[in-house]
Amino acid sequence: MIETFFTVYPLQAKTYNPNTRKKVTFLVDPTYDGVAATAGSIIRYNPAWFDKHPGDIDVVTHEAMHIVQSYRRGGPGWVTEGIADYVRHTMGVDNPGAGWTLTPFSDKQNYDNAYRITARFFVWIEKNVKPGFVVKLNEAMREGKYNDGIWKEWTGKDVKELWSAYAANPVI
Ligand SMILES: [Zn+2]
Repeated sequence: MIETFFTVYPLQAKTYNPNTRKKVTFLVDPTYDGVAATAGSIIRYNPAWFDKHPGDIDVVTHEAMHIVQSYRRGGPGWVTEGIADYVRHTMGVDNPGAGWTLTPFSDKQNYDNAYRITARFFVWIEKNVKPGFVVKLNEAMREGKYNDGIWKEWTGKDVKELWSAYAANPVI
């Protein structure tokens, strides 16, 4: 886990926030019953999860990205989690080893379902609509400049129109 951190964190910092924290603490906490969670500079891990899923090393990649994000000025939670899983998808060291993939598209989904569903939508936007979109979105979120109008401003379509275009041809 430490090795994964030192592989991905510098890359995340370079792309998404060169001013990210220089000191991060890993806490392996048997009293914590989620998978992992990040608050400030502390990432808390549930050892029981890693006992059962020893290959799920890129939980580190997802959580370390939350430190890099450092969103303290609001913005929707589904964007935060979508970006963290987008970064796990693009920068992860061994997602196949964990059997971790983006959730395949289905017409029951919506853009704000967060995590892997939103992450896949972001991959599609990067590929088909606007390369560099996630970097810009991350910056707007951190600077407290996110608003519902940015989708149209940056892509010519609002988020619902983008999702409809994605749903019509969700190939990535
Ligand atoms: Zn998260």
